[in-house]
Amino acid sequence: MDTPRVLRDIANVLNLSTPLGLVLGAVARGRFRRRSSLVIVDRARLPLLRASAVTVGSVVIIPTRSLEEAEARVPTLMAHEDEHAWQWAYCLGLPFVPLYVASMAWSMVRSGDRATANHFEVQAGLAAGGYREGQKRPVREGIRRLLRG
Ligand SMILES: [Zn+2]
Repeated sequence: MDTPRVLRDIANVLNLSTPLGLVLGAVARGRFRRRSSLVIVDRARLPLLRASAVTVGSVVIIPTRSLEEAEARVPTLMAHEDEHAWQWAYCLGLPFVPLYVASMAWSMVRSGDRATANHFEVQAGLAAGGYREGQKRPVREGIRRLLRG
């Protein structure tokens, strides 16, 4: 038994992130499966989501594609999403959302994309998640470029 993962998944139930992920998966009418300690909801109907997958607690939601199709595109995707499940646990659940959004905004300033300087994506592994690492730029230049549009 993988005790740390069991504790993580219990924490993600108690901090309500996994229940939220299950509700989102049900609302998106995805197909529920298990992969090791994670719940997979693939073929989900999330029209606004452009990512390969989104992890909420210990639930990995894969829009449109099956898990196998997503892994054919990004073979290390599940290892990347497993790291996000740890992040939900150490952020104590919902605080992950504003922290992630702030980190994504910081990445937009530093690199012009949402992942290159995003703490959570870097920690989960950019390449593992199918992201290409962009160039970082000075903060002042990033702000100037974003304001110009
Ligand atoms: Zn990610």
